[in-house]
Amino acid sequence: MPEESWQFFYECKNCKTVLKPKQGDCCVYCSSGTVPCRSNKDIQNVANFVIPMNKEIDKKLKARNIKPTAMRELVLQVLTDQPTAISLPELEQKFEKADKATLYRTLKTFQEYRLIHAIEDGTGSVKYALCEDTCSCNPDDLHLHFLCTKCGKTYCLVDTPIKRPDLPEGFEFDNANFVVKGSCSNCLA
Ligand SMILES: [Zn+2]
Ligand SMILES: [Zn+2]
Ligand SMILES: [Zn+2]
Repeated sequence: MPEESWQFFYECKNCKTVLKPKQGDCCVYCSSGTVPCRSNKDIQNVANFVIPMNKEIDKKLKARNIKPTAMRELVLQVLTDQPTAISLPELEQKFEKADKATLYRTLKTFQEYRLIHAIEDGTGSVKYALCEDTCSCNPDDLHLHFLCTKCGKTYCLVDTPIKRPDLPEGFEFDNANFVVKGSCSNCLA
């Protein structure tokens, strides 16, 4: 990846706001106009977040009618990079300096707008995974999840949808949570 395609974010230590460079600027210091951008190395020492500029991330947010903010972009980037589901504590570890309430709200917003779905895999903490572009989080979009008992990672098995069960008369199907357990290919390799 060429160096120019990296963007530098900065989180204010007092108000916890994540500052984002203006379009066309490489870093928040260029955008603020107060501190000149000297070299990428200098910025790297002070910036809290370095992520690749990714138009796809913005597109994904907009496709779900979510207003792109720096924090939302960063969280979505993490979720996109991750092949498995992530729990709030795991996400907090990746954003050590970010406000925990903001992280939680970001996940809730994503869930509300069907960008991610929640998984209860029996490990005690709810995990979140990206939805497929076509997912509306309806009963017909439900799929199996796989919990690796060796590494503790949870995978979406989107190719294995959950069939609607036959229910007694007068009952209505709303949601299901099927977790298959075993060893993932990484752990067996
Ligand atoms: Zn979904
Ligand atoms: Zn595993
Ligand atoms: Zn899933």
